[in-house]
Amino acid sequence: MYALTPAYQTYAWGAVGSTSLVGQLLNRELDETIPYAEYWIGTHPSGCALVNIPGNPDKIPLDSFFQQNPDWIGQGSSIPSHPGSLPFMFKVLSVAKPLSIQAHPDLEMAKELHSKDPTNYPDANHKPELALPLNDFYACVGLRTNEAFLTLVNLIPPLAKVLSMLDIDVSPYLPNAQPMLDQYRLSSVVMQAIAHSSFNDSFQTVYDDINALRLQDSLSSHLLCSEALARFHLFTVEYPQDLGCLSAAFCLQQLRGKPGDGIFIPAHVPHEYLFGNVVEVMACSDNVIRGGLTPKHCDPHILSTMLDRCTHDLMTMIPQHLALDPPNPPCWIIPNISDFMVFDLCEDITSFPSIPVPRIVVCIGCKCGVTSSSVKMDTLPGCPLLIKANTTFTVTCISKTSAFPRIFVVSERVQF
Ligand SMILES: [Zn+2]
Repeated sequence: MYALTPAYQTYAWGAVGSTSLVGQLLNRELDETIPYAEYWIGTHPSGCALVNIPGNPDKIPLDSFFQQNPDWIGQGSSIPSHPGSLPFMFKVLSVAKPLSIQAHPDLEMAKELHSKDPTNYPDANHKPELALPLNDFYACVGLRTNEAFLTLVNLIPPLAKVLSMLDIDVSPYLPNAQPMLDQYRLSSVVMQAIAHSSFNDSFQTVYDDINALRLQDSLSSHLLCSEALARFHLFTVEYPQDLGCLSAAFCLQQLRGKPGDGIFIPAHVPHEYLFGNVVEVMACSDNVIRGGLTPKHCDPHILSTMLDRCTHDLMTMIPQHLALDPPNPPCWIIPNISDFMVFDLCEDITSFPSIPVPRIVVCIGCKCGVTSSSVKMDTLPGCPLLIKANTTFTVTCISKTSAFPRIFVVSERVQF
């Protein structure tokens, strides 16, 4: 096994300097003026991890290492256009400010987007994401139900004005309407209409009216309403004339995750991360369709056409248990997704059988030791180890450095 050096990204929404968990996990000298937003382990061309081989002063990019040492990647399925690549990426995000409203394409849509617009859609892969919060984590994920949306319209009068400006009749979505329409349909209709509108003076008046309601006592006791108003205010501070503020605050469900939760974000599901530290494991791709709340390239029309295919059945996951020793460490497995599987340990010692693909071990909030045949390596929080394909090993938690120690063992998904 070898130690890896992760890549990192300094996007503007990241937590700054040593306040950033991502910064801390890099185990390097930090610049206290830089946002350390994302920690990456994988072979993505925008940030490939490096392999540290003892006695060799030059670190080797992980994809080149796999090309030179095919027995290390075993039967792992590289992406055809990028030999030696891992099919997954492991990231940690330290989110200090809201990210964009976004969704990810399925495989078929990714191929189409990439062939038409390779600048904005840099690969032809899908990007299903699994989010594992490391502390209290705030996000907007999936569409609100018609019932929740109509409750907000009743409590926040300027929203009724927005609906009339967008020419939307709510009567087919009322509880007793016949026929019964899809219970998430109203939010998607509103987001679709917003995608085809542009900000003007009337929206400015509505924005001012909604923000004036935030401090009204009668609304502050209604959790759904006060949370939506607080988030709308947060978005308008950053992006005062972006219609995405309406979509994110009122059309998307508000989610608060905690350590131990698993949130799966399938293709087409709109989402936006707001605040907190989270592990994200995903297929190796950079395909993001953005609907606003970012200075980056946005395609709100494309995003709005995806909402019709947005499903809600897979968002909160329960880890599976596979027959390992000691029995039943939890493992995050997503039905129909073969790109990754993630063991999520806090046991003192766990043994892993040989599988035909390489694995990555990374601990957060603890130090761990990994033993494989006669080799033993101890590692610090954030210092990943690469395990060769077809290797058995044990992982031991040596000491805890936070209240929620976690050891992640990530690989392509294989059968046990
Ligand atoms: Zn995403």
